[in-house]
Amino acid sequence: NGWLRKTALEYEELQSILLNTPDAEQAREWSSYYTSGPHLAGKNLSQALWTKEKWQDFGIESLIIDYDVYINYPKSHRLALLEKTKKADRILGSPAATVDEWKVTYEARLEEDVLDEDASSQLADRIPTFHGYSASGNVTAPYVFVNYGTCDDFVDLQVAGVELEGKIALAKYGDIFRGLKVKRAQELGMVGVVMYSDPGDDGEVTEKNGYAAYPDGPARQPSSVQRGSVLFLSFAPGDPTTPGYPSKPGVPRQAVDHAMPQIPSLPISYQDALPLLQALNGHGPKASTFNRFWQRGGLDYKGVQYNIGPSPDGLVLNLVNEQEYVTTPIYNVIGIINGTIPDEVVVLGNHRDAWIAGGAGDPNSGSAAFNEVIRSFGLALQTGWKPMRTIVFASWDGEEHGLIGSTEWVEEYLPWLSSSAVAYLNVDVGTNGPHFKLSAAPLLSHVVEEAAKLVSSPNQTTHGQSVYTVWDKHISTMGSGSDFTAFQDFAGIPSIDMGFGFGTGPKDAVYHYHSNYDSFGWMERFGDPSFQYHATIAKVWALVAARLVETPVLQLNATEYSVGLERYIESVKQKSRDAGYKADQEAIFDALDKSVQRFRFASTIHDAVAAQLLYDYYNNDIPWWKPWEKVKLYLAIRTVNTKYKFLERKFLYPAGLDGRPWFKHVVFAPGKWTGYAGATFPGIVEGIDEDKEELVRKWVAIIAGAIDGAADWLEE
Ligand code: GLU
Ligand code: CA
Ligand code: ZN
Ligand code: ZN
Repeated sequence: NGWLRKTALEYEELQSILLNTPDAEQAREWSSYYTSGPHLAGKNLSQALWTKEKWQDFGIESLIIDYDVYINYPKSHRLALLEKTKKADRILGSPAATVDEWKVTYEARLEEDVLDEDASSQLADRIPTFHGYSASGNVTAPYVFVNYGTCDDFVDLQVAGVELEGKIALAKYGDIFRGLKVKRAQELGMVGVVMYSDPGDDGEVTEKNGYAAYPDGPARQPSSVQRGSVLFLSFAPGDPTTPGYPSKPGVPRQAVDHAMPQIPSLPISYQDALPLLQALNGHGPKASTFNRFWQRGGLDYKGVQYNIGPSPDGLVLNLVNEQEYVTTPIYNVIGIINGTIPDEVVVLGNHRDAWIAGGAGDPNSGSAAFNEVIRSFGLALQTGWKPMRTIVFASWDGEEHGLIGSTEWVEEYLPWLSSSAVAYLNVDVGTNGPHFKLSAAPLLSHVVEEAAKLVSSPNQTTHGQSVYTVWDKHISTMGSGSDFTAFQDFAGIPSIDMGFGFGTGPKDAVYHYHSNYDSFGWMERFGDPSFQYHATIAKVWALVAARLVETPVLQLNATEYSVGLERYIESVKQKSRDAGYKADQEAIFDALDKSVQRFRFASTIHDAVAAQLLYDYYNNDIPWWKPWEKVKLYLAIRTVNTKYKFLERKFLYPAGLDGRPWFKHVVFAPGKWTGYAGATFPGIVEGIDEDKEELVRKWVAIIAGAIDGAADWLEE
């Protein structure tokens, strides 16, 4: 069956190379390299060059592609609690005259502890605590505890009559993307935002429950700080000065004010938050008198009563944030293995930049695994193997600031990607715990499940268990928060995002996300001491790629897409009912039901035809004197594959979503006010949320049209 091309390697042999090569000790070595060098976007050229050289050593043609992007680096910061004291004015000599004086009652450290046991925390060039794309500013104002700072939280505060305007928000991390907390606070007239990580969100493993903190135990280190971007990413990811086109030198640059905060923000530790929270005791309503979303504060045992404030007259915060904004190069490393079919391409990607010196989990567990994937494909090449489809490997820079390296690259190569890309496979955090996690476009969920069945799990309760067996089988829809966003939402390329993650049970160590303690030391002690999960994610990743690249009939599953669409229709109907739509109003959605029925039918037939062709390819012995039979089979496979390849593109709407035209996909988008979590049928959801029936109607028509278009495409 080597008629399509000649290769030195059967699929089974390739698969065994990809399953047997990734190695835990090797991954540990890559991790040790990556976690000891400079990481910040634009400042990691040495690691980019090293990565390129490694890939070339593995036998993969590689190059660096750079972009000139607008980003910030930290200059200085301050956060202090000030209390008013009145003093007699001695100079004027009048006994009645007094002036206000402000005394510092707490000066926040804004720095993470240097630990004897953790080499990363001792690095001289460790990165200050700050927010990517934050606004410089110096504000002094009373402050209000705003829970997670979600839209709903702010509504609750308004209903309770808590004044927000002119105040600083003290928000817990969690629930939604941090930039959207700043966005909402700014819209409500607040003047600054301080965010901290409350141990109430750390699950079972907390100091309150008797667990020791890192480095002695698995609980959160009290001085740990989550850095991170506050770009308004639901507007568009990538360089905010070049939405929709690549940041090449000399291109026109757009104004950025609407895309990033205008009020300053700072991230702090819970240690630094404690005095601020304690000072609110007795002021304003208690969080416990609000609804259930306000009940999770974990610092009660430290004397915090979780009053909302505002802080009383005479108690204010001084927040200073100074950022330097520059336009500077960032560096993607791109590796290529050319296939025999020129216009079918599978892209694998992981980011290399980090907020911190270490970054052992985010992203270097992924980067270490990536090197093992690439080393494995390199070994296959050495046997004379040449893939059927082209494979592209991408080590992105600038993910942390706002998915910049991947977005600019997709924007630059859009015409080529649109005509050739079959799938994008993202791994960001490869592992920071033992639980397999997957987000996937429906077209790809099946191929990942099949690959996961072939990889044995490092954690086996009974012998022979695979990653698939021990997995909870939950598949999330594609939201945002990592480099798949431009592929899925802008270019319409079916994508996945996967890795092993942590849980919240008594055995799950707290992950110190975007903190200095996401370090090699933490990984060795708590995250993945044996580095087996690093090797395991490499195997799953390589196998998914191999199946997509080497199976003559593309391993996409259209039926899965129709099943997903049916589910999403049910969920918008439910949402409309919750919003008070009456039974007759539900007729609005009839057009969706109709088109999805057609699509269901078309996709089932398409998958069946595809399966039959694959069977014929492997099992029909076409005699040598009937070469035209082979040509016919080849052409039929080619046609089926082309339909699969362009199927996801059929769900792009060129004008984009309302108010955020960069997002072109009508089925999947990050939630406008969640950022990370995905919204399905975002146009309809926003129409319902904003109580605009005409928008709901508009998007039902657009989406039904897209689904019909997809059905037409398969039936053609
Ligand atoms: N993954 C990063 C974060 O969650 C970047 C996300 C983004 O800017 O879109 O902070
Ligand atoms: Ca751009
Ligand atoms: Zn990451
Ligand atoms: Zn990150």
